[in-house]
Amino acid sequence: MKLIDTHCHIYLDDFDPEQDELIVAAQKSGIDTLLLPNVDLSTVERMHVLCDRYPDFAFPMMGLHPTSVDANYSENLRQIEAHISKRPYYGIGEIGIDLYWDKTYLKEQKIVFEEQLRWSIELDLPVAIHTRDAYPEVLDSIYKIDAEKLKGVFHSFTGTGEELEEIKKLSNFKIGINGVITFKNSKLSEILQQTSINQIVLETDAPYLAPVPYRGKRNEPVYIWRTAEKIADIYKLTLEETVYITRKNALKLFKIANKTI
Ligand SMILES: [Zn+2]
Repeated sequence: MKLIDTHCHIYLDDFDPEQDELIVAAQKSGIDTLLLPNVDLSTVERMHVLCDRYPDFAFPMMGLHPTSVDANYSENLRQIEAHISKRPYYGIGEIGIDLYWDKTYLKEQKIVFEEQLRWSIELDLPVAIHTRDAYPEVLDSIYKIDAEKLKGVFHSFTGTGEELEEIKKLSNFKIGINGVITFKNSKLSEILQQTSINQIVLETDAPYLAPVPYRGKRNEPVYIWRTAEKIADIYKLTLEETVYITRKNALKLFKIANKTI
């Protein structure tokens, strides 16, 4: 089995100095690809260093995360954009709107999100979208920019049935499912009955959102197997089938040299 973690922040200092150890463990377990969304200017260099050490395994995305949008957004976005021509990126991320932590910069978050959506169309790259308490706003921006031309993942999907129905109307979008699906109080398993496994890509969002039985601890790429098992269970598939289909879904969006189904 060859599994793709479509969203992981293994370059963050939460993992110092164990990155290599965790990557070897991930590879041994059957994970062959990590997609790494950026956070902001403070994380770019760490991400590049890690991707350069594992060129066939770790693949960067470039973007400015909504919780990093502040009064300096314009200059920060300009510097993020300047990176794009300097090396290959496999997606624009992590981008989106987050109204859970702070609504102060809603207007600025929208400007930054929409600008990065435009980049993704120009570059023909998928987007990794972070949405928290902001589905109407995110959908509004997607339709405003171009729902037909955009493609990507609603990463860490934990929305309602109605929100899932809205995403299903966007033909080029998948949902990213992580450890939350294993949480006892999560309604996600039930909500996923509304859609097929063809809509799903797997992710960890490590170091966040570790699955049961590691809930509350630092998440690691290798824990993605707990999420894969749970998805197999929900759709009554084997683990092999689940890994194969979700990989196919991921590679439909993310074009990565040498990575095939
Ligand atoms: Zn993330």
